[in-house]
Amino acid sequence: MSNKQIPYKIYIEESEMPKAWYNLRADMINKPAPLLDPQTHKPMSAADLSGVFCDELIQQELDETKAYYEIPEEIRSFYKMYRPSPLVRAYCLEEKLGTPAKIYYKFEGNNTSGSHKLNSAIAQAYYAKKQGLVGVTTETGAGQWGTALSMACSYFGLDCKVYMVKCSYEQKPHRREVMRTYGASVTPSPSMETAVGRKILAEHPDTVGSLGCAISEAVEKATSMEGYRYVLGSVLNQVMLHQSVIGLETKIALDKYGITPDVIIGCAGGGSNLGGLIAPFMGEKIRGERDYRIIAVEPESCPSFTRGNYAYDYCDTGMVCPLAKMYTLGSSFMPAATHAGGLRYHGMNSTLSQLYADGLMEATTVKQTEVFAAAEEFARIEGILPAPESSHAIKVALDIAKECCKTGEEKTIVFGLTGTGYFDMMSYEKFHNGVMKDYRPEDAEIEKALSKLPKI
Ligand SMILES: *Cc1c(COP(=O)(O)O)cnc(C)c1O
Repeated sequence: MSNKQIPYKIYIEESEMPKAWYNLRADMINKPAPLLDPQTHKPMSAADLSGVFCDELIQQELDETKAYYEIPEEIRSFYKMYRPSPLVRAYCLEEKLGTPAKIYYKFEGNNTSGSHKLNSAIAQAYYAKKQGLVGVTTETGAGQWGTALSMACSYFGLDCKVYMVKCSYEQKPHRREVMRTYGASVTPSPSMETAVGRKILAEHPDTVGSLGCAISEAVEKATSMEGYRYVLGSVLNQVMLHQSVIGLETKIALDKYGITPDVIIGCAGGGSNLGGLIAPFMGEKIRGERDYRIIAVEPESCPSFTRGNYAYDYCDTGMVCPLAKMYTLGSSFMPAATHAGGLRYHGMNSTLSQLYADGLMEATTVKQTEVFAAAEEFARIEGILPAPESSHAIKVALDIAKECCKTGEEKTIVFGLTGTGYFDMMSYEKFHNGVMKDYRPEDAEIEKALSKLPKI
């Protein structure tokens, strides 16, 4: 098909939207390793998890055989308010770069939460409501997940308690107020509301908080209150299942025009957007139907895939959550305070970890200053102001497209543009003022955190 017959935005019809999420684990030959109890190191059963998580979500978490999960009607209705998300052919970018490559991006920033996280938030809120719960608790670092969850909870009339890492709470008052607009209560963590928060405050009264601490508070709150459960916005396989809607829509749109990507790129924090984007393509790859080059992009400051170990580790610094086998830098690893908060996580989704271990995908790291340079280049040409997290994928997509200028290759590149960066202007400001730094953790720092991995 000639170039211009493909529209700038490849929309799919409402009637073509996916009716089921795809569970990639069903097609994997080597399945991801099971979650283990942090105390006994025995595989977690549904019963073990039921005090903390919602029942149907636990079932999704543990299921590695059922390939398709029907998306409940209520969730599909909500999806229709902001989906299908556009798959954009970046004609303007291609022209400016003078590249023979064909560039497409799947844009997930077209909703108030500003990121793909709403795709899973609405599913998790739905199952909590269906179970008859009063509400859910969670933590948020940069704030995207808390925002998405508060929107989802208000839609289903659930209470939503968000523990927000104290420094973000103070530095990002606007995100906090968006959450409160949707009816969530937002508590700076550590707080006096929980035993773990009080303990940490007694020991470190001036702490600015951490994600690990906020998780511990949210879990304690959920397990100590009747009718509450804890929910998480990344890392878990249930989240990746819900995010498969991104990849399924992308594939439906590409198939309509007979387009086959050569390279698929996504940023990787806990792995949910990347896992969702690649799911149906990776399924084809595993079944031997097609081959794709798949690239995870992580920050140089938090290189779980590229410099971590594939081992069992705690999912949180508080060591209350189950152990997962994943590429990890060690749960005590403290990533530098970089400007892509959503990518500052020590581990990686267990399914993606297995795929990486099996050589089915690649990973690469990028420096934050070059990420912001790519973000700016992209914004000036394609118009969208990207989130710093998303810009990691942009950077690698641009590099490959520029490489094609030299080689003349007409590669088809698809990348995930996970969100918008309106709440990250302080970071852009640092970049513009030339005061942004790059951080590469020392080998010794990583080795120290890895030496504390649980012995399994
Ligand atoms: C949270 C977030 C990410 C990273 O999370 P994953 O689970 O790795 O997808 C990426 N981009 C944006 C905009 C986010 O909010």
